[in-house]
Amino acid sequence: MNRQQIIEHYRQQPEVSVLIIGAGINGIGTFRDLALQGVDVLLVDKADFCSASSAASSRQAHGGLRYLEHGDFRLVSESLHERNRLLRNAPHAVELLQTTIPVFHWFSGLLNAPLKFLGLLQRPSERGYLVVKLGMMFYDWFTRNDRATPTHQMLNRQQALERHSKLNPAIIGAASYYDCLMPQAERIAVELVLDAEATSEKAHALNYCAVVSGGGDSVTLRDETTGETFSVKPKLVINAGGAWIDFVNRSMQRPTRYIGGTKGSHIVVDHPELARVVNGSSIFFENIDGRLAIFMPFRDKVIIGATDLRCDDPDEAVCSDEEIDYFLQFSKHILPEMQVERSQIVFHFSGVRPLPSSDVAFVGLVTRDHSVVEVAPDAAVHFPIYSLVGGKWTTYRALSAQTTDKALTFLGRSRQQSTENLPIGGGKDYPRKADAREGWLKLMSGRSGVPMARLADLFERYGTRAEAVARFIAAGADAPLNGLPSYSRREIMFLAANERVEHVDDLLLRRSWIAMLGLVNGAALVAIAEAAGEALGWSAEQVQAEIARTRDLLMTRNGVPAERLRVG
Ligand SMILES: Cc1cc2nc3c(=O)[nH]c(=O)nc-3n(C[C@H](O)[C@H](O)[C@H](O)COP(=O)(O)OP(=O)(O)OC[C@H]3O[C@@H](n4cnc5c(N)ncnc54)[C@H](O)[C@@H]3O)c2cc1C
Repeated sequence: MNRQQIIEHYRQQPEVSVLIIGAGINGIGTFRDLALQGVDVLLVDKADFCSASSAASSRQAHGGLRYLEHGDFRLVSESLHERNRLLRNAPHAVELLQTTIPVFHWFSGLLNAPLKFLGLLQRPSERGYLVVKLGMMFYDWFTRNDRATPTHQMLNRQQALERHSKLNPAIIGAASYYDCLMPQAERIAVELVLDAEATSEKAHALNYCAVVSGGGDSVTLRDETTGETFSVKPKLVINAGGAWIDFVNRSMQRPTRYIGGTKGSHIVVDHPELARVVNGSSIFFENIDGRLAIFMPFRDKVIIGATDLRCDDPDEAVCSDEEIDYFLQFSKHILPEMQVERSQIVFHFSGVRPLPSSDVAFVGLVTRDHSVVEVAPDAAVHFPIYSLVGGKWTTYRALSAQTTDKALTFLGRSRQQSTENLPIGGGKDYPRKADAREGWLKLMSGRSGVPMARLADLFERYGTRAEAVARFIAAGADAPLNGLPSYSRREIMFLAANERVEHVDDLLLRRSWIAMLGLVNGAALVAIAEAAGEALGWSAEQVQAEIARTRDLLMTRNGVPAERLRVG
């Protein structure tokens, strides 16, 4: 069903077993899981799929080494297993990430964990060699029976400086280990939505559809593309509103105070020298103010992040000038010879971590664990509400399974299928070995007539979904995009027509990594808007309105310079 058909369906028949509010990764994961169990379920988000916190993460699928000193052993163990599952189930969108932790002292930080246990730790002290080594051993031990990444190695000073030539020479050594990077995390999320809808005729998802109020037996939704409202009558509501959870509950007459969100921002820099020093590994370190920070390889660019600041209004989260100044400064501690200039920033992004409310002094100490909190029905609101509090991108599947099991018990149903080993989107039938990949590319190139080199690009972007993209491309006259020749007009048309696109920014920011990689320019913006318009039947005025909307968004939310986006 298309968008209009879904809305019409609920106008005719407002009863639905489960309404999920919020299509970040946690709402989407739960949607897919419930769809697989045959439950009729509606997922709504006031904006695009995976556009809030879930689009603002550092893109690591990781265990979270530092949670060990918080005593969160269960969380680290669960995260590592989920990291491995992500790597197995979405091999097209998750890759191994070698990580270096430079170390400056031998013994510091030894008391962090016991002090935290006794409630006496206000701010962790720097982690020395022994503490880092201990953490590494735990990390390896948790996955001893489920090894998906190489085990850690401790590097001496010379080995560390050989890997990262301009590291601060004051280091005594470094730890080297593997986690995973999800360079296109947004694609995993969108593919989960598409998989869920393909699985079940009773599962529907609507982006740009906000919850405005709730009470009695119904919830009122507003289609943000038309402004029209309609109501549904759910048996159960799952509030996956992330940092907005309390706002959403309030709109449904439930004044909760579950969330104490913190804003985190990143910048993406075009800095070939820094990219060379980063050398394909992330550098994870502790800044002099005690905050953890990261330099992350991102194709030919480098991501630098992240901040951790209390934030009460998630709608206002944007990377501030002060945060940018902070990022430009902190490279001095770890890479003292390296200068990063404002002019090298091609993109920035920001989001709010949906952390449980807490009054600890140092926000970095708030747990990253998740929970499902229930408000029971009463005379004012007839359905229970489950709020998904906390959590990480990495653990989305585990939180979704926990929520789904609770929902199934409430509905009196049982689980039909597990998501543990279920491939996602373009990760299905994925050829993992080099020769299998070569064979796959040859076969698909032969079938579609799309040249091998082009197919290899599509494969990198979409995994085995590249087959559908290539077939679509081959079915009509295609041409490279003006201003962005590595993409083509029909590739954009495919995404627009098949991936629930409503706006041009959905294409630039979430169906592709064009904007994040700093590839967008005025000519490309026009070409993409025109291709999307052709696929979606937009009028010339709509195309112009989309260009203006996207320019404005990229400049104000993502710091893309106006001159790069000059049109005509
Ligand atoms: C700076 C930063 C770095 C991070 N790094 C990592 C990392 O490297 N690895 C990791 O595993 N995790 C990381 N995380 C954590 C992770 O990104 C989040 O925990 C996770 O994405 C939360 O997902 P969510 O679905 O709960 O929330 P969100 O993605 O925020 O989704 C909530 C959704 O609810 C919608 N919504 C709100 N109000 C309404 C309404 N009235 N009607 C309809 N919809 C509504 C919003 O539009 C939004 O899309 C990071 C987070 C941040 C901010």
